[in-house]
Amino acid sequence: MTTFKRRINTSLLPDDFLSYTDAKFYNVAKHFIGESASELLEIQSIRSPDSLILISDVFAILDIKCAALNSLKEKLCLKSDDDIYIVKPGIKSSMNYFCELIIQKKDEDIKLSRKQNKRYTSVVLAINTDSSITTEPSSSRQQQLLPSNTTNIVQSSAPAMLVNESYHRSFITNSISNWCQKYSSKLLLTEGVDYHLFLITSSDTNFTATIRCKCGSKIALVKFQKNFQLSNFYKHLVSLSCTTVKKSKRITTSNKSVANENDSRGSISVTSHEESGLKRSAPCDAAKKKRAYQTHSK
Ligand SMILES: [Zn+2]
Repeated sequence: MTTFKRRINTSLLPDDFLSYTDAKFYNVAKHFIGESASELLEIQSIRSPDSLILISDVFAILDIKCAALNSLKEKLCLKSDDDIYIVKPGIKSSMNYFCELIIQKKDEDIKLSRKQNKRYTSVVLAINTDSSITTEPSSSRQQQLLPSNTTNIVQSSAPAMLVNESYHRSFITNSISNWCQKYSSKLLLTEGVDYHLFLITSSDTNFTATIRCKCGSKIALVKFQKNFQLSNFYKHLVSLSCTTVKKSKRITTSNKSVANENDSRGSISVTSHEESGLKRSAPCDAAKKKRAYQTHSK
């Protein structure tokens, strides 16, 4: 996956910042996001860098009607004439920046510890291969080191991955294509044609996803851990009320018969090429077909 790399300078953070909690953590936070936003963390008991980046929307709590939040709301938000509080963009962006700094810092720490572990392992291996040295203690140490090392990497690299809109979009459209193929080889649902996917973002990492099916129904997707779950949409597609699957299968089948006509006219290689296009997207396939047709008529 291609990730955007803005230059984020983690040297602005104390070296052992990821271990900071409570007052120590809030002191550093104040520096980046300001006193009021730091109070917002405190009031939510967000006590450490880890707990901050695991919260999908730090400002969501401001939507709650709660007297204890009123003074903070005044400081962090602009109040519209019809009494709606909107978080000041500058505060939002410094919060996002602060979170990115933490994620980047975690990323760097993981890489560093991976490097150190590698060096350590190779030292241990070197000792082990040297028969003149007793291998007993170091080999048991190495055994302990290796498994814990692997699990560490798997666990901690997950939040550092960039989960942005295009990540969700491709995850969702790929899941739907896979489901279609499993459901029926004739079924093809294309985003923008058979369904529309709406990803609405409230911050860099917080999304809501809704699918509008061709039949007109709207289906909200539920997020489980990192990814959106498609089960709601699949349930809808196979329900009696939805006509999209039935229609799409019919169209795909009639397209195939057109492809077969072309086949009888010309080369087989063009047709097989077309068929793979057919599975991917219908409009693109139509264009190819046109081209193939022109080639043949010359
Ligand atoms: Zn439908």
